[in-house]
Amino acid sequence: TLPRIAWIGLGIMGSPMAENLIKAGYQVTGFTLEQDKLDRLAAAGGKAAGSIAEAVADADVVITMVPADPQVKAVILGEDGVIAHAGQGATIIDMSSITPQTSIAVAEAAAQAGKDLKVLDAPVSGGEAGAIEAVLSIMVGGEQADFDRVKPVFEALGKTIILCGPHGSGQTVKAANQLIVAVNIQACAEAVVFLEKSGVDLDAALDVLAGGLAGSTVLDRKKENFKKRDFKPGFRIDLHHKDMGIVTDAARSVGAALPVGAVVAQLVASLRAQGDGGLDHSALLRAVERLSGD
Ligand code: NAD
Repeated sequence: TLPRIAWIGLGIMGSPMAENLIKAGYQVTGFTLEQDKLDRLAAAGGKAAGSIAEAVADADVVITMVPADPQVKAVILGEDGVIAHAGQGATIIDMSSITPQTSIAVAEAAAQAGKDLKVLDAPVSGGEAGAIEAVLSIMVGGEQADFDRVKPVFEALGKTIILCGPHGSGQTVKAANQLIVAVNIQACAEAVVFLEKSGVDLDAALDVLAGGLAGSTVLDRKKENFKKRDFKPGFRIDLHHKDMGIVTDAARSVGAALPVGAVVAQLVASLRAQGDGGLDHSALLRAVERLSGD
């Protein structure tokens, strides 16, 4: 029989991911802060719980997908959290993007709970579309045996699923992912403003660019956002700001220089300071437009 799943955090990513598990035949009990998201889970065939304790009570696997470190600490380590209420032998998989240190702290707290809990950090890349289509890249940190046991669960959510190393390693790889994505978006945004100011047909330009070495998943997925100035998230600037902080700190701690990443981190911070934190990260285009006098 399939493991019973508890899902905490049914936002832009969590909702479609939990629904993919339901489609794959899993029994999913969810908890999140918004009632409409709980209703959506129930309509999809899941069970809505009234608390974390209720959600995790009978679960073999508990998955968390919340915004950032403070929410992961509250949800997993808190008095009424996952570790306090999970059953003997449960596996806790945190798929949020957070600092490697917090993932390590979660693994240590779980080990000390005396319930034979297993922990994996398993952040994802691929965005809302990747979540909906179940083609996410899943970067995992933890022990091989725990990874092997829950691999079928990951396979219902993603396409590229790799154990990267011990606890926290998934988060380190995700930090690198966010660096690459931010710099790529920034380069595309600069190209779009340059092309438009030059009077070249943007559709033609982006189509031919996508077919050459300039092509990227970012260009494919964000092309329409750039063209239409449609900055509905997607992935919010606020969250990418968090991730640029994570990668900047992590890189400094190991002595890696991120000169271009540091500049893009400042542009993300500036967008946020101008009230654009709720927009999709493709709104880096706005920062370039402002710098270009538009
Ligand atoms: P979101 O804000 O849409 O969803 C977060 C959910 O967490 C909300 O439904 C909220 O109710 C829930 N939550 C927060 N605190 C909670 C608590 N104490 N108890 C229960 N539920 C709680 O965020 P998202 O875009 O789905 O992102 C979630 C994580 O995934 C973040 O770490 C983000 O960086 C990462 N991520 C997002 C994307 C993307 O494209 N949106 C892509 C890859 C990774």
